[in-house]
Amino acid sequence: MRRKLAAGNWKMNGLGANLAELEKLSGLHGAPDCEILICPPATLISTARVQAGEQIAIGGQDCHENTSGAHTGDISAEMLKDAGASHVILGHSERREDHDESDSDVRQKACAAIEAGLKVVICVGESLEERETNNTLDIIGGQLAGSIPDQVTGENLVVAYEPIWAIGTGKVPTLDQIGEVHDFIRTRLERRFGEGVGRSARILYGGSVKPGNASEIFAVSNVDGALVGGASLKADDFSAIITALE
Ligand code: PEP
Repeated sequence: MRRKLAAGNWKMNGLGANLAELEKLSGLHGAPDCEILICPPATLISTARVQAGEQIAIGGQDCHENTSGAHTGDISAEMLKDAGASHVILGHSERREDHDESDSDVRQKACAAIEAGLKVVICVGESLEERETNNTLDIIGGQLAGSIPDQVTGENLVVAYEPIWAIGTGKVPTLDQIGEVHDFIRTRLERRFGEGVGRSARILYGGSVKPGNASEIFAVSNVDGALVGGASLKADDFSAIITALE
């Protein structure tokens, strides 16, 4: 049985004072029936690790593919781990777009993260144009093949399906569309990595998940949880999503 995962991506939001939301969340979910992960900005990881309590995992939002060196402003996977992170989000569409990250970049970062002992949350997703021209599955298939390294395990791999046009827009694919892509991802993982890894890796849906739509999305086949942006910033909203998953 795959353990469900509720992951929050705070993106470039959050100062020290906002960790009060994390403390509140921790108080609301002392013994959760699912895994909870919060990925705050890197500046907050070590304090978040202390304030989150034992039931909430902390993750980074990106890492460099090298372990150290002359890369001003970048953060290595080892540094994230050292600060208290257990996971890292890689290949988010905002990184692919803002920083020109390719599938091969994401794959190298994932190798570095796994080497450092982090679990990887690898994001894939199509643009609106790609969906409207019926290229969704081709795009997702290419991103999966190019972004996921060979050495993943069922334990350390999480795939997040995030249609770009659904992120932060309030638009959500139909449940059939979500199911089609999640089933496709599951089949691709099983085909490439075998049934052991392919069936244990979690597949999250991300894109405008809110308390009001979480339950119906979580009922779709092969949806093992969510990667949540905006609605993860407030403890009450994220808590309602966690409760829908439990
Ligand atoms: C995200 O940033 O990964 C995301 C899904 O954002 P939102 O939930 O705000 O759409």
